[in-house]
Amino acid sequence: MGSTERISNVAKRVAKWHRAGHQMVVVPSAMSGETNRLLGLAKELAPSLMSEAYHRELDMLASTGEQASSALLAIALQAIGIESISYAGWQVAIKTNSAFTKARIESIEDQKVLSDLNQGRVVIITGFQGVDEHGNITTLGRGGSDTSAVAVAAALKAKECLIYTDVDGVYTTDPRVVPQAKRLATVSFEEMLEMASMGSKVLQIRSVEFAGKYQVPLRVLSSFTPWDIDLEEEARSGTLISFEEDEKMEQAVVSGIAFNRDEAKISVLGVPDKPGIAYQILGAVAQANIEVDMIIQNISKDGKTDFSFTVHRNDYAKTLEILKTKVIPDLGASEVVGDTQTCKVSIVGIGMRSHVGIASKMFQTLSQEGINIQMISTSEIKTSVVIDEKYMELAVRALHKTFDLDQVQA
Ligand code: ASP
Ligand code: MG
Repeated sequence: MGSTERISNVAKRVAKWHRAGHQMVVVPSAMSGETNRLLGLAKELAPSLMSEAYHRELDMLASTGEQASSALLAIALQAIGIESISYAGWQVAIKTNSAFTKARIESIEDQKVLSDLNQGRVVIITGFQGVDEHGNITTLGRGGSDTSAVAVAAALKAKECLIYTDVDGVYTTDPRVVPQAKRLATVSFEEMLEMASMGSKVLQIRSVEFAGKYQVPLRVLSSFTPWDIDLEEEARSGTLISFEEDEKMEQAVVSGIAFNRDEAKISVLGVPDKPGIAYQILGAVAQANIEVDMIIQNISKDGKTDFSFTVHRNDYAKTLEILKTKVIPDLGASEVVGDTQTCKVSIVGIGMRSHVGIASKMFQTLSQEGINIQMISTSEIKTSVVIDEKYMELAVRALHKTFDLDQVQA
């Protein structure tokens, strides 16, 4: 929603669905660039504030972007003869906890919205924002309007939640790395969760978790397709994130290759091998609110073992600091070493559940490319490796090919 012209096109698209007999609730995000602009103003005035009082004001400020675009969309609909009403989060109400700038939705009241829908109105609800128990305006974190939309769809038991965005669906991998990447017509919710948690920036991950919890069918589709394309065609476009695995039965074993450049590796060497060490090391890290991803502990030699794990690159320095000052002295480990020039590459697919040898095919491909694997982790539907980041693109391309994901060239 970058301009009034684009808002007017959104209105025409919504009108098309409405006139075809669908009850519509629309959850706009801010006009493009607006949230950044607003937060930038705050930063100019207060480059270093961190307090709760400040974060409260950030939410008060950032939430106005969605309030403006919601009202404008309602106006654009009214201008083409569609009865429409917009609500801010607190008016619905979308109730959240009080974690300013990263609040979580706790409940959504549906009476007002349902009554408007039953009177034939299109209801517009601001994305990204809610209200806490004290009446403060909260926001849900960057990209949070995806989560608002899914939560509203869940509360209203909508048939489908359509997320119009700047890409036309979910791809087998990032097309900027592999130009042959193809759009998936469907992807299972579990696969999407794996892909979203690893760099696929298509949807805010929390929106996918929400969709899973409440079984909301989600479709990701392009906001750039002309508003007047055939409704049936639009309804089938993009990528459906589905809960029905049967549809996938005939499809590829591996659905996508995900990657994440932000992984940093840390190893604690020469740790005495006795009960409680994992807790001593990772407990201290968790206490600092640092998320740990992959974890490996080797078998011990002479009563000592090595313990490695990965964290987000931004947390690397802080994690090393904690280990060196708080953990190593008590633990009697010999050394902490780390590497930020690493990345994680994963193959994802629910088909892996019923097929053996998929992981070894991955390792074979990487060995043929001469890529050294530093860490491995697996789940039922995913195998991930940590490798040197300079081989990331090579690895992704080779795996994309190995698992037959390259688009058939016409
Ligand atoms: N406007 C908010 C943001 O930029 C929410 C969103 O667009 O999803 O993060
Ligand atoms: Mg967004």
